[in-house]
Amino acid sequence: MKKIGEINRKIKKGKARVLTANQFVKLTEEKGITYAYKNVDIVTTATFAPMCSSGAVLNFRQPEPPMRMEKIYLDGVNAYGGLAAADCYIGATEVSNSQKTYGGAHVIEKLIKNEKISLEVKSKGTDCYPLKELSRHITQDDVNDFFLFNPRNCYQNYAVATNSSEKTLYTYMGKLLPLYGNATFSTSGQMSPLLKDPELLTIKPGTKVFLGGGTGFIAYRGTQFSSKSQVNSYGIPIFPSRTLALIGNAKKMSSSFIKAAYLKNYGVTLFVGVGIPIPVLSEEIAFHASLSNRQITTVIKDYGKEGKPVIGEIDYETLFKNKLTLSSKKIPASSMSGVKMASLICEILAYSIRNGSFSLSCYEDDFEYETNGIKLVNESCIQNLSCVECGLCIGYCNKGALVQVDNSIRFYKDKCDSCMLCDDVCPFGLLPYEVFDKKRVYYGSKIL
Ligand code: SF4
Ligand code: SF4
Repeated sequence: MKKIGEINRKIKKGKARVLTANQFVKLTEEKGITYAYKNVDIVTTATFAPMCSSGAVLNFRQPEPPMRMEKIYLDGVNAYGGLAAADCYIGATEVSNSQKTYGGAHVIEKLIKNEKISLEVKSKGTDCYPLKELSRHITQDDVNDFFLFNPRNCYQNYAVATNSSEKTLYTYMGKLLPLYGNATFSTSGQMSPLLKDPELLTIKPGTKVFLGGGTGFIAYRGTQFSSKSQVNSYGIPIFPSRTLALIGNAKKMSSSFIKAAYLKNYGVTLFVGVGIPIPVLSEEIAFHASLSNRQITTVIKDYGKEGKPVIGEIDYETLFKNKLTLSSKKIPASSMSGVKMASLICEILAYSIRNGSFSLSCYEDDFEYETNGIKLVNESCIQNLSCVECGLCIGYCNKGALVQVDNSIRFYKDKCDSCMLCDDVCPFGLLPYEVFDKKRVYYGSKIL
């Protein structure tokens, strides 16, 4: 059994042996679990997906005269002000008064970019806080504190969504076409942190993580946490089960890994990039980290029926081939998560550990850690800031015009007949019909 302190000493000396989750799966397939346990200290895992249960705490500089800030609007989005005089919490899914496609997630992204937002505040006024109204523009530089506090992130497994009904459904799992017209899922599969350590043997309260391009910590178990799910023959919970509450300094984050999105007729959400290092302390931990998409399964739910009944179980290897079979009908399946971004986070985290700028959680870190500590984000490795290449759109194109090749999205314009089926599905509003029509290159990947 290895010890965290022992691995941290290796990190300090630049001798820690770190592999990404994908590399570890490959190594165990070639050399076996015992070899991998003996030769690898840490496996990096990651996910990049819509995580609605996210938000940020802000502490404003007091104006003169001071104010007990009660009703607070940021870019027209209501932030909860019942936290003393100058703190608020803005939830990612809170929607603006004037624009249903704009919400708390967009405010958070703008503040991370240090862009200007409007601040409107009202108060009843008190003897100690006499100011009653405030209206100004602020940037990140104008707030004392700005940290993400996400009550429920990193869901451990999530069900595939499909729809047997006769009408199109707009859901948090995207657009679900009638009569099993498509299926959507959300995971980074064999890279996903809570699938790689399903019993949370190493992922604990206080664990240091990559959060949104900076560092964060696991504050506690997330809301809706459940450890009672049925597991498959490899010990993987096949239903949505454990979750994490995460916290981290948003002033150190990057909008490449925290991205606001809008799902048509559902609402605003926030894509959050999370990376978690798993120390390979035992062969049992190595075994779980070795599981591949073929061995990780989830259930399929029918959103077209009341109570969303389970109608099947499927492995992620099949799902990532973008097809599933239900009652002998082949259904296009597409992911809402950015697998390519998750892979990038695994690599950045592995690099940061190897170069000694990210160590495993222990009680050595103090409150200044993040200000004199790591710089996780290597902006130059992020080529594509608009399309995250999640692949959600490809599940709607039956003409072969939108396809995913090696986790990159390709658009073959000769095959596109402008049916517009894909035009309202992209969470970032990128798609595509008008854009294709104008022959502009919109995707990070190639237009062929
Ligand atoms: S264009 Fe397609 S692949 Fe890119 S972010 Fe939008 S849905 Fe995902
Ligand atoms: S508009 Fe073109 S790319 Fe989109 S679904 Fe139709 S054929 Fe495919």
